[in-house]
Amino acid sequence: MHIASRIAQMKESATLAVGAKAAALRASGVDVVGFAMGEPDFDTPPNIKAAAIRALEAGMTKYAPTPGDKGAREAIARKLREENGIACRMEDITVTSGAKHAVYMALQTMIEPLRGDEFLLPTPAWVTYRPLIELAGGVCVEVPGSVEHGFRVTVDQIRAAITPKTIGILLNSPSNPCGIVYPPDELRAIVDVIAGFPSISILSDEIYEKLVYPEINARAVHWSPGSDSRVADRTVTINGMSKAFAMTGWRIGYLCAPGQSGQFAKEVIKLQGQMTNSIPSFFLPAVVEALAPATAPSVESMRSAFAARARVIHTLLCSIPGLRCVEPNGAFYAFPDISALMGSRSPGGRIIDSAQAFAEALLSEAHVAVVPGEDFGECARCHIRLSFACSTQEIEKGVARIDAFVRTLQAVPPAEHQVKSVTPVMSRRS
Ligand code: PMP
Ligand code: GLU
Repeated sequence: MHIASRIAQMKESATLAVGAKAAALRASGVDVVGFAMGEPDFDTPPNIKAAAIRALEAGMTKYAPTPGDKGAREAIARKLREENGIACRMEDITVTSGAKHAVYMALQTMIEPLRGDEFLLPTPAWVTYRPLIELAGGVCVEVPGSVEHGFRVTVDQIRAAITPKTIGILLNSPSNPCGIVYPPDELRAIVDVIAGFPSISILSDEIYEKLVYPEINARAVHWSPGSDSRVADRTVTINGMSKAFAMTGWRIGYLCAPGQSGQFAKEVIKLQGQMTNSIPSFFLPAVVEALAPATAPSVESMRSAFAARARVIHTLLCSIPGLRCVEPNGAFYAFPDISALMGSRSPGGRIIDSAQAFAEALLSEAHVAVVPGEDFGECARCHIRLSFACSTQEIEKGVARIDAFVRTLQAVPPAEHQVKSVTPVMSRRS
C-alpha cells in the first residue's frame, strides 16, 4: 500500500520515542531513571476524578457537541477572561483531544499549502511544532535562542526573520524544552513587532502557564499575547489540562480564537467535527472542576514541588564538568548544552559526536533516559533535555549517574571523529 510522502517523511516524536524506549528497558527489569517524558509524576487531584466518575455514573455517555458542552466552554472562557485578560466568549472556544490536537488544527486552519507560507518558530522548541507546520504545508523558519541569552530570542531577531511570506509566529512561554519564561516586557516587545504586520497571526501555546517559578526568578510571570488588543483578533491561544492538573492521560486541551467574529473558531470546529468530534463527554465536567477554585491548592502544591526540583536539578547539573545550563524558571525542563563533551568516547566504546549519540550511550550504559536536542531545533543540536517531573530522589539518583558517566568519557583525537553539530544563524528548512 502506498504511504503518502508527507507522512513517510515526517519525523516521529523524539520525546515519545525515548519515553517508549525507557519504558521497554524498565519492563525488561533494568532500573532506568526516566528524565524523558514531560509528564507530571503526580496523580490527578481527587476532586477532578470524582467529577468524571459522577458524570459517568449519571449516564453522561452520549456524544457531546463537537467543541464541548456549554458548561466546559463557559468555564474556559471565564478563566481566559479573568486570569489571562483575553476578551472571549464561549463560542470562541473548542475543547480538544489534548493541546497537541489543538496545535494541529490551528496550523491546518492557518496555513495555505503550496503558497510558501512561513511560520516563525523561536527555538529550541517542542519537537512537535516543526512536523505539524510542515504537515500543514508551511515552511518552518527557526529563530534560534542560545544559552548566553537565556534561550530568549530578541525583537531584532524576530524583525529580521519576517518576510512577505510570514503568516504566523508560534510562541511557547513557559517553554518546552528551555524551561524558561519570557518576562512580560520581552514578550510584549515581540508582540509590538507583530502588531505592525497585520498579516501575521500568533499561535500562543500556554500549556505550562501555571508552572512559573517567581521564587527562582522574580521576572517569571505569565502573560498572554491574546490579551493585547492590537493582536487579539489574530491570536489563537492554546492551553490544556495535561501539565498543571496532572492529567496527561485524559487527553484534554483547548483552543481559543476570538478573532474574525468567531469565524476562525468555527472553521476549527468544522475540522474537529470531521476528525475526532468532541472529547469523551463525561470528561467535560472534569474540565469545569479543574478550573474551579477548589483545585487551586492542588495546583499550587504541585507547582511549588516543581520549583524546588528546578533548583535541585540545576545545582546538580551545573556541578557536572562540561555541562552549561540555564536555570529553569518555568515548565519542568532543564536543557543543558553538552558541546564540551563532543569528541569523546564512552566506556562502552561509543563515540559521542552528537546529542543523539550521548543520549543513546547514557541510556544503554548508565540507564538514564534523556531526550537528545536535535529535534528541538538546529541550535539545540548539542543539548539534551531532562524533564524533572519526577521525585527529588530520582533527580539525585539520575544526575549522579550522569555525573559518573560524564567523568568516564575519554577524549578522542579529532581525526577519529567528526562532531555533527552546527549552529546556524537562522534556518529555513521545508
Ligand atoms: N505543547 C507543549 C509545549 C507541550 O510540551 C505538550 C506536551 N504534551 C503539548 C503542547 C501537548 O500536550 P497535551 O497534548 O498532552 O495536552
Ligand atoms: N509534551 C511532552 C514532552 O515533551 C509529552 C510528550 C509529547 O507529547 O511530546 O515530553
